[in-house]
Parts: sequence; structure tokens; C-alpha cells
Amino acid sequence: MTNIKNVAASVRPESSSANTQGGVRQAILDIPEYPFTPIDVPCKLDQNENPYDFPAELKQEALKRMMERSWNVYPDLSAETIRAGLARFEDWDANGIVVTPGSNQMIKILTEMAGINQTLLTVSPTFAVYTMEAKMLNAKLVTVPLHEDFSLPVEGLRKAIHTELPGVFFITQPHAPTGHLDDPDAVKSLAIEAEKQGWIVVIDEAYYMYSKTDYRDLVRTGGNFISLRTFSKCWSLAGVRAGYVLTSPKLASNIRKLVSAFGMNIMAQCVLEVALENPDYMKKSIDEAIRERERVTEALKNHPTCQVIAGHANYFIIRTSDHKAAAQFLVSRGIVGRSQHGQLYMDNCIRIGLGTPEQNDQVIAAINDLR
Ligand SMILES: *Cc1c(COP(=O)(O)O)cnc(C)c1O
Repeated sequence: MTNIKNVAASVRPESSSANTQGGVRQAILDIPEYPFTPIDVPCKLDQNENPYDFPAELKQEALKRMMERSWNVYPDLSAETIRAGLARFEDWDANGIVVTPGSNQMIKILTEMAGINQTLLTVSPTFAVYTMEAKMLNAKLVTVPLHEDFSLPVEGLRKAIHTELPGVFFITQPHAPTGHLDDPDAVKSLAIEAEKQGWIVVIDEAYYMYSKTDYRDLVRTGGNFISLRTFSKCWSLAGVRAGYVLTSPKLASNIRKLVSAFGMNIMAQCVLEVALENPDYMKKSIDEAIRERERVTEALKNHPTCQVIAGHANYFIIRTSDHKAAAQFLVSRGIVGRSQHGQLYMDNCIRIGLGTPEQNDQVIAAINDLR
């Protein structure tokens, strides 16, 4: 048997006594904790959640299934029943589907697969999880600034695709946090060019149902394309934590190596099965959100001091004259959004999720009183 004490002593760096952080890697020490403080108000519109809860009768059905299952045994290895339900819903080969507890976890896995010691390419501003994972996992982070109108910087990205060491390339459509939607043909030709150069191209479609766009046809061509989707927004299931990819069986098998086995617990599985068998509940809330986006942004378009940017997701942006004063004022009216101040081209901007029509009435009234 190896003498563990001696081995440990022999590999310990000489300066270890000066290291007060133990063995925590510097990349982790350098990252601030996730900047989120929950505020309890009637209009909680800061996380782009669906304002409608999962329907009560579907909760009942999910609970019934939970009662029938055995909790003492492990769930199935790779969430087979959910993948089968998704295969039907998405018209996709179940072998090309991978499910994780939230798509944020999938972003980590995709960065582990193709970013570590390689490159993570995205735009700026972008979804914070991509940049955070790049920094934590020692992927070279390359961000290309959006155009000032929030459109995709196709030429800049094209250049990066050819000059950087390939890795993982995240494209968000509709974009987060701006809500901007780009021409699908331009996105596709960029994606195809990147894939040819050896990149794994991920289209994060967290909000695709609110824009009626769909990149499955690109992914279906084979190659290293991935559509990343989530149950957190349109499906009203942020609390259940589930996200998934649609890709080729070959790429899916590599992604699956990085996913914790038995990762989707049986409670979540029961809920997702029921959701996938009854998708109609979701369609109503999406149609309403799209109508409400139009109504709210129309009602605010002639605001004397705020510029309203509608976007194509379930949120919109207001550019205020002072983001701190505006946020404070909104909270005093029972509304919380998410400040985007400090991000490129987003100074004094606040992102506000679409709520129920009643909540949106409050939002319109409050912003109309904002100076
Ligand atoms: C909300 C969101 C997600 C979803 O993350 P989950 O972990 O599935 O809740 C993914 N990508 C973007 C850009 C988002 O805004």
C-alpha cells in the first residue's frame, strides 16, 4: 500500500503555508458570487419567468405519478422517459437528445466538452452564464461586441471564427439580454462557416417560442450544431430545473459522457412527462405574452424620457435617464426588473419581463409616471 502521508508531503508546494485559500483554483477565487438578490414585490419581472404557474390539474397528475413510483431506487440513467416525450414533441431522434437539471448546467457541460483549453466564443453583451463558465473552466473567452442596435456582429464573428482556436460558439436567438432577433439566414450561414472551421455551434433557443423561430432545420443537417432549450420559460417550470439539447446522436453521445448519471430525479421526471403530454397549456401563455409585448411597448413608445425596446422574447428593455432612480421608483410601485447598466450599449437600461395583463397594466402605469 502506498504511504499516503509521504506522497502528500512530497507533492506539496513549498509555499503552501502562505496560501490561505486552500486548494481553491485562482479562476474560481476571481469570480464574484452570482449577483442576484431576490426582492419580494407583486410584479416580480426580473427573471423572465412565465407569469402563469404550471396548471393545478397537471400538478395533481404529476403528484399522482410521484406517489406511484418507488423513491428508493435510482431514476433511469439518462432520463429515457423524458427523452422519449421530447422526441415526440420535437420530432427528434431520442439518441440526439440530452437532458440536464436546467440548461445552465448544460452550458457548463458544453464548455467542459469544447471550451476547456480551447475557446468560448460569444458576443457582448451576452448571457452571463457563458462568460462565467469560460472563466471558471479556463476556456479562452472571446467576445465580439454587438452592433449598437443589438444586431449580431457577423463580420467580427466571422473574423474570430477564422483566427481563434476552435471551441464552443454560443449564439442566442432571440438574444439575451437584449431580446434582439437576427435574420435566420445570416445566423445559419455564420453557423455553417464556424462549424466548417471546427467549432461546436450552440444556438441557445431559451426564448424561441416567443419569436416563432426554430433552428432545428440547421441542426438536422448533421455536423456539430446544437439547439439548447429549456423548460424554465415557456413551459412554466423554472422551479423544476430542466433543460435539453437537440443534436446529432454522435455529438449527444459525447455530451452524455459529461452528464451525471441518474441526474434527473424522479419528481422532475414525473412533472416533465405530464408537461410533454399536455403542451396546450403553454401555447395559451405564449400567445398572450406576444400580444402583451405588443400592447405594452405600444403604450410606452411615446414616453418623454424612456426609450422602449420591444425585442422578440418575453421581456423588453427600457432605457431610462437614471437606472438607479428608475429601479427604485419601480420597486416603490411594486415592480422589479433587472438592471443591465454597465453592459455594452446598455447603460441605464432595465430589462422587464412580461407579466399577466394585470401586472403589465401596473408596469405601463408606473413607467408612464417615471421621469
Ligand atoms: C433563462 C435562460 C436559460 C435557461 O436556463 P435554465 O438553467 O434552463 O433555467 C438559458 N439561456 C438563456 C439565454 C436564458 O435566458
